[in-house]
Amino acid sequence: MTAPRAVIFDLDGTLTEPLLDFDEMRREIGIAPGLPILEALEGKDEAFRARAEVILRRHELDAIAAATLAEGCRELLALLAAQRIPTAILTRNVRDAVDAFVARFGFRFEAVYTRDDGPAKPSPHGARVLCEALGFPAAETLAVGDYKFDVIAARGAGCRTALVRHPPPDDLVDWGSPDLVVPSLWHLLPLWSGQAPER
Ligand SMILES: [Mg+2]
Repeated sequence: MTAPRAVIFDLDGTLTEPLLDFDEMRREIGIAPGLPILEALEGKDEAFRARAEVILRRHELDAIAAATLAEGCRELLALLAAQRIPTAILTRNVRDAVDAFVARFGFRFEAVYTRDDGPAKPSPHGARVLCEALGFPAAETLAVGDYKFDVIAARGAGCRTALVRHPPPDDLVDWGSPDLVVPSLWHLLPLWSGQAPER
């Protein structure tokens, strides 16, 4: 893969270690195990969704307050900044959680798209908006995530895709057939540094 000219990152489990306990969130909200939470809420009435949103936000903000960075996160973001590669965050999380993350770790992203901004992943809408904001064609933009919705959303927008997951899932077709599958963000450094990862 030639060096992407812009990068879109998922937040939870990609830039940070996985923190959100989705099973506990579903239990507390009162939705069936296994279903994606935002989609499960679509069929519920307004009062249920409002109460669920309060629970989600509490979990999301608590998670950021306790977040630790994923392996290679700081190094990869530093390399991209040094090479003036613009970066963005695309998340199903809320804007306040992204703001707290950026403030806590002192990072800078050119653009952010959250579920407060429009349809969430796996819709490709956010990826399209961010490609436009970053100023490069989707085909020259790499989207990095740890879940199939990340890959499916980015592919729908025409981006290149990297799945950060160890071990890799068995059925990559079901996961949107990512262009790259890597065990950590460390393994993306060579795309821009031209060197093999040091560990
Ligand atoms: Mg994630």
